[in-house]
Amino acid sequence: MAGTRDSEEIAGIRAAVRALCERFPGEYWRELDRERAYPAEFVAALTEAGFLAALIPEEYGGSGLTISSAVAIMEEIHAAGCNGAACHAQMYVMGTVLRHGNADQKQRYLPKIATGELRLQAFGVTEPTSGTDTLALRTTAVRDGNDSYVINGQKIWTSRAEYSDLMLLLGRTTPREQVKKRTEGLSVFLVDMKAAGESLKINPIRTMMNHATTEVFFDDLRVPAENLVGEEGQGFRYILSGMNAERILIAAECVGDCKWFIERASKYARERSVFGRPIGQNQGIQFPIARAYAQMRAAELMVHEAASLYEQGKDCGAEANMAKMLAADASWAAADMCVQTHGGFGFAEEFDIERKFRETRLYSVAPISTNLILSYLAEHVLGLPRSY
Ligand SMILES: Cc1cc2nc3c(=O)[nH]c(=O)nc-3n(C[C@H](O)[C@H](O)[C@H](O)COP(=O)(O)OP(=O)(O)OC[C@H]3O[C@@H](n4cnc5c(N)ncnc54)[C@H](O)[C@@H]3O)c2cc1C
Repeated sequence: MAGTRDSEEIAGIRAAVRALCERFPGEYWRELDRERAYPAEFVAALTEAGFLAALIPEEYGGSGLTISSAVAIMEEIHAAGCNGAACHAQMYVMGTVLRHGNADQKQRYLPKIATGELRLQAFGVTEPTSGTDTLALRTTAVRDGNDSYVINGQKIWTSRAEYSDLMLLLGRTTPREQVKKRTEGLSVFLVDMKAAGESLKINPIRTMMNHATTEVFFDDLRVPAENLVGEEGQGFRYILSGMNAERILIAAECVGDCKWFIERASKYARERSVFGRPIGQNQGIQFPIARAYAQMRAAELMVHEAASLYEQGKDCGAEANMAKMLAADASWAAADMCVQTHGGFGFAEEFDIERKFRETRLYSVAPISTNLILSYLAEHVLGLPRSY
C-alpha cells in the first residue's frame, strides 16, 4: 500500500526502508518480544542506512530531509511489521538542540547523533506524581556556582534510557511559586548518562509490549552549566515546540500499523475457507476491513496535512494532535479487526497479530493521551473554557 501522493524521492525512500525491513521478519521480533530484548541489529541497520538522521541538516552530517520523508520512513517500518519505537526518538529529540541549542552544542552533538556515535533517544519529561500535568513536575535542577547544576528527582516511562548516551531532561530551575508565568521556571538539559555514575539509576519497567521503558532516579547528579539548552526557565516552551514533530511521526507509525493489519486481514479473508467459501465473501468480514481502510486513509490525510503545514513553518499544533489521535484510533480499530478476522489464529504468537495488537495500543496513551488531545482542540481550536 504505497502512499497516494508520493514524490519520486519519497517512493525511493519507501522502497529502501522496505528492503531493509525484509531482513527483520516476524521471527526476529517474536524472539525479542519473548525476552523483552532490544532490537539492537535493527536499530544499527537503520542507523547505518542514515534513516535516523533524516531530519538532521546536511551541515551537521544528516540527510536534511523533510518531515514528509521521515513520515514515509516510520510508516514503512510499521507497515512492514517492524517496530520503530526502539529508536524513533533518535530522529526527533535532537530537534530541541537544533532549534534551541547554541552553536557549540550543535557542533558538538549533532554530527555524532547523525552517525549514531551518540544516541540521544531518552526523553525525561513524565514523572510519577505529575503525570500529564507537566508543569507540576518535581525534579529540581539547582545552580551551583557558575559551572554546574545539581539534579535531584525521578522520571518515569523514560523509554530507551538503557540504550541512550544522552537524555534530554526537563527539570525545575525556579520554584513554582516564584515564577511570574506558570509556564516558566522549567529548563532543558542534555544529560550525559554514561558519565553520570552512581548519581543516576535506571530501573527497567516490564510492560505489555517490548518497549525498553524505565524509571530513572537522579541523586545529586551534577550537570555542567554548558549543557543547559537555551535560556534557563524557558524549557517548557522548547519541549512543546518539539512535540508537533513527535506527534506527526508517531501518527505515521500508526498509519503503518493500520496498513499492516489491513493487508494481513485482507489476505487471510481471501484465503481462509469456511463453509465452503472464503470468509472474505461474507460482508460481516469485508465491512470491518473496508471500514478500517477508510479510517486509515482519513488519518493518513491528516498526517500529510500536518506534515505539509510543518514544512511550511506554519502552526500545525491542531493538525499534529488530530493526526496522532485519528491515527492511533485507526490503528487500534484495525488491530481489533485483524484479530477478529483471523478468529483463533489472531491469538497465535506465530501470526504476529497479537504482538502488533499490543504494540499499537500504546499510541492512544503515549506520548499524549486521547483526552488531552480532545481538551486541546476544545480549548484552543473551539474556544471552549479551559477544563483543568
Ligand atoms: C510505554 C510508555 C513509554 C513512554 N515513554 C515516555 C518517554 O520516553 N518519556 C516521557 O517523558 N514519557 C513517556 N511516557 C509517558 C506518557 O507520555 C504518559 O504515560 C502519558 O502522557 C499519560 O500520562 P500519565 O501516564 O501520567 O497519565 P495521567 O496524566 O495520570 O492520566 C491518566 C488518565 O487520565 C486522563 N486525564 C488526566 N487528566 C485529564 C483531564 N484534565 N481531562 C480528561 N482526562 C484526563 C488521561 O487522559 C489518562 O487517560 C511513556 C508512557 C508509556 C506507557
